[in-house]
Amino acid sequence: MKKNKTYKPDWTPENAGDEFAVNIVRGVDVVKKNTTVDNKSHKRKLLSVDEYVNGVINFDRNILARTITLIESNNPEHNEIAQQVLQKLLPHSDNSLRIGITGIPGAGKSTLIESLGMYLIQLGHKVAVLTVDPSSTVTKGSILGDKTRMENLSKQDNCFIRPSPSGGTLGGVARKSRETITVCEAAGFDIILIETVGVGQSEVTVRSMVDFFLLVLIAGGGDELQGIKRGIMELVDAILINKADGDNEKKANISKADYENALHYLQPATKGWIPKAFTASAITGKGIPELWNTIKEFEKLTKESGFFETRRKSQQIEWVHRMVEDWIIDEFYSNEKVKKTIKSIEEEIAKGLITPTLAAEKLLKTFKS
Ligand code: GDP
Repeated sequence: MKKNKTYKPDWTPENAGDEFAVNIVRGVDVVKKNTTVDNKSHKRKLLSVDEYVNGVINFDRNILARTITLIESNNPEHNEIAQQVLQKLLPHSDNSLRIGITGIPGAGKSTLIESLGMYLIQLGHKVAVLTVDPSSTVTKGSILGDKTRMENLSKQDNCFIRPSPSGGTLGGVARKSRETITVCEAAGFDIILIETVGVGQSEVTVRSMVDFFLLVLIAGGGDELQGIKRGIMELVDAILINKADGDNEKKANISKADYENALHYLQPATKGWIPKAFTASAITGKGIPELWNTIKEFEKLTKESGFFETRRKSQQIEWVHRMVEDWIIDEFYSNEKVKKTIKSIEEEIAKGLITPTLAAEKLLKTFKS
């Protein structure tokens, strides 16, 4: 999209009505495609900290969306305000159940979220759907954030869907997602669904921000997939064999028994809870109430044992450590002296002139000096 050209949006921050607010909350692209945008008219006046806070608490969708945009911004001034807003929202959050959902592309995660989300809304819940998408850090686009994937859910007043913030590192995306959880909770969303794809480090990241972690599989995935799953299986609280409909149902039941068996031999991800396996069809909705009952059972058990609270506290502490690590790494590699030295050291390593340990020591000395 070209910058600073002639396109004038037919809305402005001042005249933006509810429709705009709702659209932006639902992630609908209000700026027409293939039009150039005047960046200046997009710039919105920042609100005061209390305006953001009160807007979120009073569930003003427009302000809710603007608060999250503030959190996602890379502008230091925005970050400073965002932190003050978050600090004030903190006492109003924490009143939710956070559920992570992972699985390979095509397993049926978004169909399941649509189905489960609609079911939960009918039960009177308010559902926020966030995504942590590692591809967004690479391509600056988001495969998981496509709203058309949850068509009915995105039309519900009691639902909020926010795609993964794009750009930056996985650590950066994770920070923004965690802060978005706080905002959603303060706005009264009591169920937070966090979707990620079953590749790489993002599953560990999502596990560290949720209470319950669900792996979505399809029956008869084949042996090569089992290898990927082994590590993941130790992170999950339940496995759902999806697409258990039509001819697939029998195969799904066999898979369920296999996984149930395997799960007994693994270290459980949650103290006192043996992970469950079950079948469902995200399309027909069969198995969705059972899934929800299992999650409720899990919540009750972990709250009674105190593990729910313990985990949330340790997740907060772990988050602080991750941020410190990210910050130090960032400082290190953006240090001018390090940047100058690194190339020559890499060449020395490639020529076998220096051991990796000595090279690392040299770089650290350069950084400290
Ligand atoms: P995701 O990539 O994991 O989000 O997967 P999607 O939800 O986009 O689903 C991938 C494909 O599987 C789509 O064509 C869905 O219609 C289909 N699908 C999802 N859930 C089911 C199900 O329960 N039964 C059947 N038969 N197809 C399903």
